[in-house]
Amino acid sequence: MIRNSVIGGVISGLSRLFFGKRMIIAKSQKDLEKMRAVGELIAEVREALRGMVKPGISTLELNSAAEKMMRDAGSIPTFIGYKPHGMVPFPFAICASVNDQIVHGFSTDRPLAEGDIISLDMACTLDGFVGDTAMTLPVGEITDELKRLIKVTEECLHLGIERSRVNGRVGDISSAIQQHAEKHGYGIVRDYTGHGIGRKMHEAPQIPNYGREGTKEKIRAGYCFAIEPMLNLGTAETKTLEDKWTVVTKDGKASAHAEHTLAVTPDGPEILTLTKEQKKEPPAGQAETFAEARA
Ligand code: MG
Repeated sequence: MIRNSVIGGVISGLSRLFFGKRMIIAKSQKDLEKMRAVGELIAEVREALRGMVKPGISTLELNSAAEKMMRDAGSIPTFIGYKPHGMVPFPFAICASVNDQIVHGFSTDRPLAEGDIISLDMACTLDGFVGDTAMTLPVGEITDELKRLIKVTEECLHLGIERSRVNGRVGDISSAIQQHAEKHGYGIVRDYTGHGIGRKMHEAPQIPNYGREGTKEKIRAGYCFAIEPMLNLGTAETKTLEDKWTVVTKDGKASAHAEHTLAVTPDGPEILTLTKEQKKEPPAGQAETFAEARA
């Protein structure tokens, strides 16, 4: 949920506002415990929504369910009322972006239809810390072309996560994502990026989904990142709808989004937005997917 500060003067002003002095905050062990707790909670919400997505359900229903789960667990839906400078407050607990919508889609009462794809992005704040995650799901049966878009987007996410290592650089993450997406011929959205995360949803650094290995900020233990590739079936170009939030592809082709919050530890990246179950055993097929993506 963040605009790229490299693009446009106004936007770069915005980013200074988001990122303050642009200091990257390394989390203490105590902070990391809280990041783990909120990460697990938002992952539970994500998985509950995954189970609800089917033809006939509306994004408003998904939004209400997500908001209730977040509040029942004692957390605050971070997106509601989120208001970057000069923007209108975001009105929903989740971003629900259907088909050619890339991010920041508004929930509506329109039922999802067989063949749609839906990107659900969500965040909550618990005990002062934020967890942020997103996924793109098929609604019923979808085309092979869309299945591949979703799969490659998830592979990009995990390749980026793998590069989130102590003494690496933010550009390593960006370049891993870009190379994989381009290998498959997808447009990589440049106008929105991943980000540092902690007490605030958007902290430094920005983590673009394109870039060069060995460039940008050095990665240190305790950094927490939200990595979130957005891949388009067509070109990377975006436009924003009249509601001032919903971002769509300029060419009207579909887009997919995947996001995890992670902590950089001396032993490697630790994905925080996994459920208790998912932490016990990686989802079936995941290891194969990574191996395939790396090949
Ligand atoms: Mg995010």
